[in-house]
Amino acid sequence: MKIQAALLNDYGKPFDLETVELDTTLKNTEVLVKIKATGLCHTDLTVRDKQSPFSVPAILGHEGAGIVEKVGANVTKVKPGDHVVLAPASCGKCNSCKSGHPSYCEKFFPLNFGNGHREDGSCPYHNHEGKGVAGFFFGQSSFATYSLAEENNVVKVPTDIPIEMLGPLGCGIQTGAGTVLNVIKPDAGQSIVISGVGPVGLSGIMAAKARGCTTIIAVDVHENRLQLAKELGATHTINSLNESVTEAITTRIHPGGVHYALDTTGRNNVISDLVASLNFTGKAVLVGVSPTANLEIPNSAFTMGRSVQFAVEGDSIPDILIPQLISLYKAGMFPFDKLIKFYDLKDINKAVEDSEKGITLKAILKMPE
Ligand SMILES: [Zn+2]
Ligand SMILES: [Zn+2]
Repeated sequence: MKIQAALLNDYGKPFDLETVELDTTLKNTEVLVKIKATGLCHTDLTVRDKQSPFSVPAILGHEGAGIVEKVGANVTKVKPGDHVVLAPASCGKCNSCKSGHPSYCEKFFPLNFGNGHREDGSCPYHNHEGKGVAGFFFGQSSFATYSLAEENNVVKVPTDIPIEMLGPLGCGIQTGAGTVLNVIKPDAGQSIVISGVGPVGLSGIMAAKARGCTTIIAVDVHENRLQLAKELGATHTINSLNESVTEAITTRIHPGGVHYALDTTGRNNVISDLVASLNFTGKAVLVGVSPTANLEIPNSAFTMGRSVQFAVEGDSIPDILIPQLISLYKAGMFPFDKLIKFYDLKDINKAVEDSEKGITLKAILKMPE
């Protein structure tokens, strides 16, 4: 079948809207999804910038949401007509997957990045010249009107909420909220600082509020983001251009330090400040990726039982977390719609520009009807 896709034809280039031929002969465990909308995430741009490995020409996109069109012979989890959110790919068979940690699947890199072909080497996507196009980015390649996914990475969602807004629950929002709900697990009445309040950090703030944290400190350098953080649950904000984060926390906001920190920036100086703002036995969890840098924190920061951990995709089981976030949204406790701005797929380059300038927090690309 012919599909419309935003192709990355070469690294560093804008996306090109093109018609792509998709062979819809499904393998036994595959699911063909008619994409309704897809979020744009920083990781898509790291491929464009050649910081993450993926072949070109490629269909990127990994926050897809849509309606099941057709399923492979062995698929039982969903049927045509079901609304689904696409999550990162995982094998479902390795020790990490079996112990409930699919974000740490032993096949995470080949399944989510890799060469854009199936594991058996076949390539169902071809451009107008008949050249193979890399698909299966995060098991979905959702910058397109149709997506080939696996039963394992489709999450069935209720139909009484607009499907167009749900895609980011599969990556960016899951990362921020899942890190708080699954990894940090603060108790009611505890304190947390969250640095970098883009879509991931703001999702963490909403989750911290939903968990009952009573001191939620947002750190950023953009006043508009700090303002939104306040609306979404931050009890305090720090503009780190104007004051020292550690001093503000340990002397003014929460003397003695906070229980937890979540960093979404990946910046060494920010992470050091957060660790120094923890109370004894406090824990910092990092989700930001800076593949080229080393992390340096003074040994003395750890002497009183403090710890630092890295977490991927909120260490979530998407089949559990995504419906949980939808329930919280419906209850008015997770208003992630406040982060979203919709664009048409054809305006993807404008969406990228607005996201990189910080004008748009979470761009969602709607597919043409
Ligand atoms: Zn696995
Ligand atoms: Zn992502």
